[in-house]
Amino acid sequence: MSWNSIRGHEALVAAFREVVARGRLGHAYLFVGPSGIGKKTFAVELAKALLCEGTALAPSTPGGRGPTQAATSSSARGESDGACGVCPACVQVEARTHPDFQLVGLADDRHEFPIEEMQKLIAHLALKPARGRHRVAIVDDAESLSTEAANCFLKTLEEPPPDSLLILVATGAERLLPTIRSRCQIIRFAPLPASVLAELILAEGIAEHAEAARRLAEASEGSLDQARWLARPEVEQLQRQVDDLLRSRPVDCVVLGQTLSRFCEEGVKESAVKRERARVALGLLADLLRRRLSIAVGQEAVPPMSGRMPAGEVESLVDALDRVLVAEQQIDRWLQVPLVLEACAADVARSLE
Ligand SMILES: [Zn+2]
Repeated sequence: MSWNSIRGHEALVAAFREVVARGRLGHAYLFVGPSGIGKKTFAVELAKALLCEGTALAPSTPGGRGPTQAATSSSARGESDGACGVCPACVQVEARTHPDFQLVGLADDRHEFPIEEMQKLIAHLALKPARGRHRVAIVDDAESLSTEAANCFLKTLEEPPPDSLLILVATGAERLLPTIRSRCQIIRFAPLPASVLAELILAEGIAEHAEAARRLAEASEGSLDQARWLARPEVEQLQRQVDDLLRSRPVDCVVLGQTLSRFCEEGVKESAVKRERARVALGLLADLLRRRLSIAVGQEAVPPMSGRMPAGEVESLVDALDRVLVAEQQIDRWLQVPLVLEACAADVARSLE
């Protein structure tokens, strides 16, 4: 891995290369953007650029206090090429075993980041670097910090230990306490362009051929996570079932609610996984409604199987889409998954009456 391996965020790579080379790196960043677009990968690459030992060009000190002396003299990378990817430090960051690197995130069975984890992270950051000159900590899923954990982190954000770099990664800045946001430089990541996403889908073997990858990329809203989900057989099946339900009038709200709930709940214990599946199910419902809307406003040729669009369909579909967006927000606010889905199904069906 090196900066060259980051796909779809070339402008940010160029900006951070420049900032690191000039010694202008800040102490605390908040990376925000949809899930599955490479924010965490980018943060790890930035950590490597700072901790890499395979370079003659000194990585600069966080805080913009100017460049420092080179860590080692051997050069395995180009002058501004970020991490070498092969030195012991790079390998250890990749394996999450580097003593000056920490990456914490939300466990699958939790919905809040516990304060104890944060206290451990802060204590670790306060130590002198063990082998290099920097310490780097990445807090993934930062929107899940409990208020207690966030408040505990504030002082560290305000007065970070010397030579430390803190990177918070979140899907939306607005989900963090304003006091946390205001102490970080916010870096916004855009969804991956469809062409880049299609290449990644092929490279990961998620789709078998270029045309399937292109179609999947177009439905995945710039997110590799979303593409992985959509390629699952059970999601394809859900898509067919929901599509059939939306075509029939009146829409059977009970069956629609049950179909969505079953997908999220059946055989799933962890509430975080149920929520992730609920986001996929609602995303898929919104996508199908958008497709029908697109047909209704005449942007697409009417496929022979779509059936005739009833009058007033555009307004009905817009209402239904609004209702799905509300349900997505409710899932993020930890309302009960089946209640949210069943109420949403009832309102979508009513909108389409
Ligand atoms: Zn290296």
